[in-house]
Amino acid sequence: MRILVTGGAGFIGSHLCERLLREGHDVICLDNFFTGSKRNIAHMLDHRSFELIRHDVTEPILLEVDRIYNLACPASPIHYQYNPVKTTKTSVMGAINMLGIAKRVRARILQASTSEVYGDPQVHPQTEAYWGNVNTLGLRSCYDEGKRVAETLMMDYHRQNHVDVRIIRIFNTYGPKMAENDGRVVSNFILQALKGEDITVYGGGEQTRSFCFVSDLVEGMMRMMETPGFTGPVNLGNPAETTILEFAKKIIALTGSTSRIVYRPLPADDPKQRQPDISLAKQMLGWEPTVSVDDGLKQTIDYFRSVLTSA
Ligand code: NAD
Ligand code: UDP
Repeated sequence: MRILVTGGAGFIGSHLCERLLREGHDVICLDNFFTGSKRNIAHMLDHRSFELIRHDVTEPILLEVDRIYNLACPASPIHYQYNPVKTTKTSVMGAINMLGIAKRVRARILQASTSEVYGDPQVHPQTEAYWGNVNTLGLRSCYDEGKRVAETLMMDYHRQNHVDVRIIRIFNTYGPKMAENDGRVVSNFILQALKGEDITVYGGGEQTRSFCFVSDLVEGMMRMMETPGFTGPVNLGNPAETTILEFAKKIIALTGSTSRIVYRPLPADDPKQRQPDISLAKQMLGWEPTVSVDDGLKQTIDYFRSVLTSA
């Protein structure tokens, strides 16, 4: 198949492109390089089935493809808050433009949505049936509401125009190829630990997250894309929940670092708890994560070690 991956030069997108090439597909990677990097895709550029298009999803484009994975959107709070108007446009206009392609050429489209649609959740763990608790006016809402509208557009194009859609809600995902300046907790803590710098825990560190290794996520995304007749939404994440303070201590132990933990102010609207209920993914996709957090972190630590030594 010919498969379009928007945001294909980013962290998750580049892993997905690699996997799709390995399975024998033709891959078109579309990216504006806002947070993605050529380093993530450099090794694929010479592959005869790989094509790179530098393009912004907020602008229309004509392409003939069989599948669209719509991942284009900055995912780290520091990046999506840098130009919040652009973030909302990327999710909304990006979804409209990609749905336009899907409608015209009858391609199947998968939207990378997020656990952030649940906001600061009052239901724990989060099931797909929960409608969420999002502050429409806050600093995170450009991302959260943009993604919520993208989900709405998917379902309306599906009902109105019979577009074959898939919605996945991705929970915190980590692994090699996260950008060093990404600003999210996994890359921050690992880099701080490896450099012997203070580990910056925001707030008291009692807030929780559940971290999924990227290869598990990519497997779930591809299963969702190829499962007939199931639009979702479906949660994809690892239910292994940890407090951020425990997580900092784990990274110090795994790196053998001498770093100290320091406390910094908690960002506004930072969700207090987050854990996916993945019963639906298990039932519909036969999917669950297979990589333990310790194994995944070791691979990610090795990756950042090699980045630091080659710098
Ligand atoms: P990332 O920032 O590494 O990748 C996003 C990619 O999209 C980058 O390559 C960036 O350059 C590109 N991009 C941004 N705006 C664009 C635009 N207007 N036009 C074209 N390309 C654009 O982030 P990621 O972690 O790989 O996330 C990928 C997707 O998964 C995002 O949609 C994100 O919202 C979603 N997601 C990720 C996580 C996670 O934990 N990593 C969690 C939930 C949802
Ligand atoms: N966090 C932290 N120190 C950091 C970066 C993040 O304590 O250097 C916290 C952040 O406040 C949040 C959690 O780690 O509670 C996850 O943050 P991240 O930005 O990775 O993702 P998100 O909040 O979108 O889940």
